[in-house]
Amino acid sequence: MPDRHYYTSLHRSMVATVILVSLMPMALITLIGGYQYSAAYKAKVLAHLGEIVRKHEQNIDTYLLEKVAEIRVLADNMGVSCFREEDRLERLHRTLMERHGGDFVDLGLINEQGMQVAYSGPFRLGEANYADAEWFREVMKRKVYISDVFLGLRGVPHFIIAVQFFSEGRQWILRTTIDFVAFNRLVENIRIGQTGLAFIMNRNGDFQTTPRLDLNAEIPFLKHFLDKTKDEQGRPLQDGMVISRVAENPATGRETIYLTTPLKQGDWLLVYQQDTADAFSELVQTRNIALFVLLVGTIAITFMAVLLSRRMIKRIKASDKEKEMMNEQVIEAGRLASLGELAAGIAHEINNPVAIMVEEAGWIHDLLDEGLDKEGNTDETRRALTQIRTQGSRCREITHKLLSFARMIDPTVVEMQLNDMVEEIVGLSSQRARFANVQVETELADDLPTIAASPSEMQQVLLNLVNNAVDAMEKEGGTLTITTRRDRDDVLMTVADTGCGIPRANIQRLFDPFFTTKPVGKGTGLGLSIIYGIINKMKGEISVNSAVDMGTAFTVRIPSAASAQAEERRKKE
Ligand code: ADP
Ligand code: MG
Repeated sequence: MPDRHYYTSLHRSMVATVILVSLMPMALITLIGGYQYSAAYKAKVLAHLGEIVRKHEQNIDTYLLEKVAEIRVLADNMGVSCFREEDRLERLHRTLMERHGGDFVDLGLINEQGMQVAYSGPFRLGEANYADAEWFREVMKRKVYISDVFLGLRGVPHFIIAVQFFSEGRQWILRTTIDFVAFNRLVENIRIGQTGLAFIMNRNGDFQTTPRLDLNAEIPFLKHFLDKTKDEQGRPLQDGMVISRVAENPATGRETIYLTTPLKQGDWLLVYQQDTADAFSELVQTRNIALFVLLVGTIAITFMAVLLSRRMIKRIKASDKEKEMMNEQVIEAGRLASLGELAAGIAHEINNPVAIMVEEAGWIHDLLDEGLDKEGNTDETRRALTQIRTQGSRCREITHKLLSFARMIDPTVVEMQLNDMVEEIVGLSSQRARFANVQVETELADDLPTIAASPSEMQQVLLNLVNNAVDAMEKEGGTLTITTRRDRDDVLMTVADTGCGIPRANIQRLFDPFFTTKPVGKGTGLGLSIIYGIINKMKGEISVNSAVDMGTAFTVRIPSAASAQAEERRKKE
């Protein structure tokens, strides 16, 4: 029976195989599927955000253009005389306010020297001179100007739209202040997730709207970042183009998505930013679920693998045990069979002395009938009785041997000398051999090392080989030669006969249980299979060499007791 080590390693390799085979596809699918899903998902989210940004950019641009268009229409169609009179200007301003919900905070007319000629609005800026203001210089150059957001004279954030027009032979400027709050709301409305927010910056990195969160720590980074907002060919951004980029936010230290698009012909940039983790939160969630499923699956598979293989090992162990028991039974059956064969030989041996004893007893009977007083009868009776005793003790010796063999079923391994065993078996089989006209010869090596074996099992091996050999020579007689010799650390024993030999076709099946060519009642077909089992158990080998009508030689190789012990020690370590 295999030792515990064998089952542990079998168990281990079973568990490993099951886990590997079932986890591999699962892990691969999770990995590949997860990767593709995340790529597709990210692309989708970015595209979605880009869409949102583009839409808002359009809204904002539309908002600004609308305001510019409004002023432009007034300037081009009304003529300067309409604006110069303050009550008409005020009326116009009020109409604008009504139509645009108070976005136009004030309205002013400025002459080409930068002097404000007329004004309508809450700031009371009647006589202001804008000659030095940047917006004034710009509008004189560009005809239309939208300023950056600034605090202005009264500390309220606002920005200016100014248009230049020509009337009465002079240049004039119509200027309006746009309510920052309404404009700010447009941008502020873009908020997605926890960290998604939008703002507008000018090229200098000044916020044109107030971001929902404090982004002051981010300004240097944003400035640097926005400087680089060029398309793939390195051209500056065009209106309606959205660039998305993922970078680490220096203020939060988190990976952040930035989407940028130009406003106001690129003077301003609409920026949308959101933490990657926040934007892809669903992805993280999905990934966690996948990982959880993978984990649970792994645990379940591992658990099942261990459980099932443990159960399997238990079965294998049981069946091994059963097999071993069967083997023992077969050996026992074989032992009894070979005993039967032996008994047949012994019966012959006992038959003779018993016949003599019966004869002598009858003779004594006759002598007693004649009377012991007759000349010579006493001596004759004495001789007959001596003969009976001699024959009787011969019988006893035979039965004794038989009994001692029958009793030997102990599989305990001891250190033994094979030569002694050979001699014993030769002695035990001599009668049968003589009867079959077989001459037995032995060539035993003097330097034969001892072997570690069970004597009763070794007896089986020898007896079966000898019986088979005698069977093979039964018809014509022959010579049985048993040779032992040392081969390095092994003991070699050859049992050779000059019998009928074994046909090539049978050699393969020789060691199969119940393979026999002998008639029913004589052969059991167990002998060689038992021998094979016993020799195998001792880590030995058995081989056969045979030629039909020439004879057969079985050679058994058994490790010496010393090398078997060394092997045992090596295995334990
Ligand atoms: P059994 O002796 O009961 O037939 P064995 O297993 O001992 O069973 O042998 C199986 C068969 O192998 C025998 O029936 C015989 O045909 C063949 N055999 C075994 N030993 C010899 C031998 N020495 N010479 C010829 N044939 C043999
Ligand atoms: Mg046999």
